[in-house]
Amino acid sequence: MQNSLSSSVVFEGTGLHSGAPVRMVLRAAPANHGIWFHRTDIRIGDAMVPAIWDAVDRTPLCTRLVNNAGVSVSTVEHLMAALAGCGVHNALIEIDGPEVPILDGSAAPFVRGIMTQGVRAQAVPLWAIQVMKPVSVEKDGARATLLPADSLEIEFHIDFQDAAIGRQSKNLKMANGAFARELCDSRTFCRQSDVDLMHENGLALGGTLENAVVVDGDDVLSPGGFRHTDEAVRHKMLDALGDLALAGNPILGRYVGERSGHSLTNTLLRALFATPGAVRMVKCDTKTASDLPGYGLVWAEIPEVA
Ligand SMILES: [Zn+2]
Repeated sequence: MQNSLSSSVVFEGTGLHSGAPVRMVLRAAPANHGIWFHRTDIRIGDAMVPAIWDAVDRTPLCTRLVNNAGVSVSTVEHLMAALAGCGVHNALIEIDGPEVPILDGSAAPFVRGIMTQGVRAQAVPLWAIQVMKPVSVEKDGARATLLPADSLEIEFHIDFQDAAIGRQSKNLKMANGAFARELCDSRTFCRQSDVDLMHENGLALGGTLENAVVVDGDDVLSPGGFRHTDEAVRHKMLDALGDLALAGNPILGRYVGERSGHSLTNTLLRALFATPGAVRMVKCDTKTASDLPGYGLVWAEIPEVA
């Protein structure tokens, strides 16, 4: 069964890169609608932006969607992860600017907002994308791979010179509310040197020590430090779930990211759909549906964050 929202959810905040205030309203949408953004500040021309893999502009810092008229929505990945992690397949997202609010830099506020209003089942079958054979892409020493599996699993490995992050690995099946319980409160992280470079280029103007964990060598500059000792790799898994959600249907397969990022995960999706015989569409039976992200999510297990 497909799901949408029981009622609208409002988020107000600031864009990470623009630093501009933004208001976003998640609304219910009919079955087979998918996830679409509506830029309500665009009055002339096509203001609808689809949350789909081939609308991704592969910029390195965030996931940015662009429609055929050149209208875009940036930094969609944490919201997409929350929608996938809560099992929402259909939604219309009204937004009055070009960037999704960063909130606390994690997906937890989105998850709490969505689950406060509730998710509503729609009496229409859900189709999933089953990975049939391995597909892998590499760039600059990073690799992203999708392998056949019965349900979505995410494995990630990172290796940073800064001792505050260092080497981290984690592997998780996305069933039984695992995303909300284990990943959703992990925040974006970056190095102080990256922050300086982004500021010089007019980026991350809305970034603070609260909505990103900033590290410098051995030191964590953000007050309170990490929420988890391996918060960094958990956040990379959160990003991967959000970027994989842009496939348009839930993926049944095992994702392995090795120093991967937004751009490479999107390149992987493009390779997946371009490889003959790499996927097939399957109608979700009860067993398959019960292993999807979002199924079995328990309110008490959603981390409480600012
Ligand atoms: Zn992220």
